[in-house]
Amino acid sequence: MLYHSTRNQENAVDSAQAVLNGLAPDGGLYVPETLPRVDVEAILNMDTYAMATAIIGAMLPDIPNMDMLVERAYRGKFTAEDLTPTVQAGDFTVLELFHGPTSAFKDVALCMLPQLLTAAKVQKGMQENILILTATSGDTGKAALEGFKDVEGIKICVFYPHGGVSKVQRAQMATQEGNNVTVLAVEGNFDDAQTGVKNIFATVGNELTDGGARLSTANSINIGRLAPQITYYFKAYSDLLHRGTIKMGEEVNFCVPTGNFGDILAGYLAKKLGLPVGRLICASNANNVLTDFINTGLYDRRRPLHKTISPSMDILVSSNLERLLYLMTEDATLVAELMQKLNKEGFYQVPEQLQNAIRAEFWGGCCDDAKASQTIGKVFAQNGYLCDTHTATGWAVAEDYRAQTGDKRPMVVLSTASPYKFPAAVLSSLEENNDPDEFAKMDRLEVLTGVKMPENLRTVRHKKELHTEVIAKEEMLPKVLHL
Ligand SMILES: *Cc1c(COP(=O)(O)O)cnc(C)c1O
Repeated sequence: MLYHSTRNQENAVDSAQAVLNGLAPDGGLYVPETLPRVDVEAILNMDTYAMATAIIGAMLPDIPNMDMLVERAYRGKFTAEDLTPTVQAGDFTVLELFHGPTSAFKDVALCMLPQLLTAAKVQKGMQENILILTATSGDTGKAALEGFKDVEGIKICVFYPHGGVSKVQRAQMATQEGNNVTVLAVEGNFDDAQTGVKNIFATVGNELTDGGARLSTANSINIGRLAPQITYYFKAYSDLLHRGTIKMGEEVNFCVPTGNFGDILAGYLAKKLGLPVGRLICASNANNVLTDFINTGLYDRRRPLHKTISPSMDILVSSNLERLLYLMTEDATLVAELMQKLNKEGFYQVPEQLQNAIRAEFWGGCCDDAKASQTIGKVFAQNGYLCDTHTATGWAVAEDYRAQTGDKRPMVVLSTASPYKFPAAVLSSLEENNDPDEFAKMDRLEVLTGVKMPENLRTVRHKKELHTEVIAKEEMLPKVLHL
């Protein structure tokens, strides 16, 4: 199956090569030439592993032995046997995506990506090592480290801002085991770390490092990260079907706490594959670029970035939106123009027809910190369900959607993190607590709510710290060159 850039339909590559390349050479994102056909009803009757095999296999057919790769990616690594369980809470169904090794939804994709990369390497006869570089504001780094640790032929190096991640997040990364991992704190903020990584890519390009490795990334522009996320939309629908909440063919809405637009785009792809998805509700925090975009057709990043209690959604440029623009228009020239305008001028306006098409499929809403915090308290008091700050954002926007549209179709709210990953904000939504120690807050949250803390977060404070080096921005490149 062929993939080409969102900015140019020529120079298509097969799906294994698209996974290896990550980004297309012209800076665009890989999209399939035509979407595969899948047997939706058959998939809805499979268990989660078989679903993943069928769906990822259909999206990436040039990577062989998908059933084995899915086994290796997930078996024994998630605390839920069905990987991504759904829970009924009040009027909504919550799709819990945080039962993986680091309690973040990114585990679903980042457990699978190393398997896909390794298999694609073999398929293409690539000999040299791959070196994954990631700058992280917290969650992605740990999930990537855990996914890539001890994977043969791949090394990973994660940079995080020194003092810029939570105590728990720092502990998660500093204690990372594995013979192929490097973790470095960088003096500066997240932007400094990210700019540093971009500069390394610009300097090294397609050359090998002195250590003989080829650079790649683990971020959600890679189609190998996106494909595994389609599975859980089918899984949630299948749960509703088998519980008798819906009949086959009935449409279900999904509300997605959104940052880079990868998660919600996977929902759109699920719909394109034939899953009866109604509206996709795009939930943002105070960084509501996407809400404005869906409502007006104007994408405008010329605004300050707000630091919120849902930091994984503090984003002004949602990379995967580019894929939606292409999939809805199949016009690579238009997408190339819009992206150039965004780069040069910081904004673009889509044609009215495209805006209408987007609004027919998506609904955008946002929720500030105060409302998210209030929602955590309310949902716990009313439904006994404890959600994290990102999920609360989704919940609040899903309520707004229902109130404003009267749309009564079943609503699935995607839950993207364990509440124990953001203990300070979650606890202060439930009670006043001035304990400065984040670990003490986790313990208190467990006592107060009776919701069990994930073991990986409980034990991290006792693990040996293996990575404590802090480096200057200027040292990033020389460090990488030696890997
Ligand atoms: C990454 C992340 C998101 C946003 O997902 P995108 O695919 O970037 O839109 C939401 N919540 C949490 C907890 C995340 O880690």
